[in-house]
Amino acid sequence: MTIVIAGAGIGGLVTALSLEAAGFREIEIYERSSQIRGLGVGLNLLPHAMRELTELGIDARVAALGVAPSTLSYYNRQGQHIWSEPRGLAAGYQWPQCSVHRGKLQLTLLEAVEERLGNVVRLGHKFLDRTETETGVTARFETQDGIVEATGDVLIGADGIHSALRRQLFPNDGEPVWSGLTLWRGTAVIPAFLDGATMIMAGDDEQKFVAYPLEPAGEDGRMRVNFIAEKRVGGSGDADWNRAIDPAPIVELFRDWQYDWLDVPSTIAAADEILEYPMVDRNALPQWSFGRTTLLGDAAHAMYPNGSNGGSQAILDARTLAFRLATESSVKDALAAYDADRRPATATLLEMTRQTGPERVMVIARERAPEGFEHVHEVISAAELEQIAADYKRAAGFHPDSLNARSSLTPPAAASATAASASASASASASAGSQAASGTASATSA
Ligand SMILES: Cc1cc2nc3c(=O)[nH]c(=O)nc-3n(C[C@H](O)[C@H](O)[C@H](O)COP(=O)(O)OP(=O)(O)OC[C@H]3O[C@@H](n4cnc5c(N)ncnc54)[C@H](O)[C@@H]3O)c2cc1C
Repeated sequence: MTIVIAGAGIGGLVTALSLEAAGFREIEIYERSSQIRGLGVGLNLLPHAMRELTELGIDARVAALGVAPSTLSYYNRQGQHIWSEPRGLAAGYQWPQCSVHRGKLQLTLLEAVEERLGNVVRLGHKFLDRTETETGVTARFETQDGIVEATGDVLIGADGIHSALRRQLFPNDGEPVWSGLTLWRGTAVIPAFLDGATMIMAGDDEQKFVAYPLEPAGEDGRMRVNFIAEKRVGGSGDADWNRAIDPAPIVELFRDWQYDWLDVPSTIAAADEILEYPMVDRNALPQWSFGRTTLLGDAAHAMYPNGSNGGSQAILDARTLAFRLATESSVKDALAAYDADRRPATATLLEMTRQTGPERVMVIARERAPEGFEHVHEVISAAELEQIAADYKRAAGFHPDSLNARSSLTPPAAASATAASASASASASASAGSQAASGTASATSA
């Protein structure tokens, strides 16, 4: 079976790895960019995504790229503490949460794809459109040498928030939907704050600052953090991940946000570069799979970054799609089953991120105490705080109880084949296939 993937971002690359682990070999990835330069700033991989990367045998490589946050803490604009919760292993998951640089993650995934599948990523191929027959699907790509066609049994559109495949399937879908908020993202080396492994959010739904470590603190007590500053400020909803801007006006917007545990304006001023991005998402779709064609990742369900779920949901899509292709009796059944598994779940999540997700605690704190409080329980009870956090985790499919108990997305045949080959050949660890095998075996026995 030949599987054609449009887009070599996080979703497209993890799809290739998941398909390989499920026993597929004829996989072709077509990427618009002429070079994968590892762009972006920080991205969070939640435990449900780290579980999938563990079962793919690349968890250690990914974990080595960043930091596993111990805690997530919410504060109001005055820097007063609202709520903290443990993250990853500390929260009872069998898998950690990892904060990594998105570009480093993409390059690491690309390396793993090349090790396991060879040179299957074709750069400089911009997906244009597709035609489908009963027996196959043909995608057309624009290259500098003209139009190239690729025919396969399956076409997966993992071409991001501006997906050309989504546009072809839904010509009236329009542009991404803008919340009116603008995000400024950057990384900076600053003095370590709190325990050096805490992700913080301060403010509310009108103005907010998020920061988390991307590297452990060095001997000088300083560490690289990722931050996102956001505010409602006019402008446009034109989504371009690479628009760099002058940091000075953003520093001014946060001038008073100086806490004894973190100096927000100094953090923004220390950024290597500030990237401006509108907070946009996409409306939920009524269908992702059409015969032999389907959508995945941001192409299917781009969502706001609150809840840190964009990359993680793309990884869950990838693993589910590979599982269905390996276990259903036909391509069309597999794509329909994937659609039924993933579309309603991500639509619920999308709706929750529009309601500000777990960050609702910050909105409530501001509504009830705009000038701050002595103690948060004067304005929000402990039970209400716990309920908000638990509701979001359940809807997002990563409540510790359900995630730890859920069966694996490694297809049974692939799991037994890889487990068998792992025990038959203990010395095969250098081969690409055995990396997947050892990942699968360790996860299924965990
Ligand atoms: C340059 C860039 C920087 C980003 N930085 C961050 C960040 O700092 N933090 C964060 O949380 N998220 C970031 N994201 C988004 C994040 O990667 C996604 O939300 C998430 O990982 C889901 O992955 P995805 O594969 O669906 O989409 P993406 O990771 O966006 O990947 C889509 C891929 O498809 C390619 N593509 C687009 N159109 C076509 C086409 N017509 N034909 C072929 N290929 C095409 C793109 O070049 C890209 O490689 C960034 C995305 C991009 C593209």
